[in-house]
Amino acid sequence: MRILEATSETQGDRDDDYHWCTDGELTYIQGTDCDRPDCGCERGWAGVDSHRATTTVQVVDRPGMAVADLAADLALSLFDGGWLTTPDPTDELVSVYVDEIIDIANHFEVGDVLWRNGEVVGRRHDRADRDFVAWIEDNFPKAS
Ligand SMILES: [Zn+2]
Repeated sequence: MRILEATSETQGDRDDDYHWCTDGELTYIQGTDCDRPDCGCERGWAGVDSHRATTTVQVVDRPGMAVADLAADLALSLFDGGWLTTPDPTDELVSVYVDEIIDIANHFEVGDVLWRNGEVVGRRHDRADRDFVAWIEDNFPKAS
């Protein structure tokens, strides 16, 4: 199955990037963003193990992973974070996050690096766009 893992790929391409997660850890979108304009949590993905956040995640295929594994990991993390009173993988909150991860991961391609802003999620083109512009400039020099 496809999941969303924290990645440092394309980190720093945007001035407001941050990456306090561990590369490769499972991430999800935490349910609530605060109202502080300078916070940045509306751009963050939550790390299941680190309980920290990053602005960049990658769509990764984990063939050995099942939905039940994903639910168990999330339930444990939510329990550790104080969001659940027991690490119950059948909890409704877990299901909401699991469904969202699956929806997002299946909407994009494996290897894509994603950004979010609130409810909007997109593929990051920063590095690819910059490389492409450099390639165009190298191969098609402007006529003087
Ligand atoms: Zn915030």
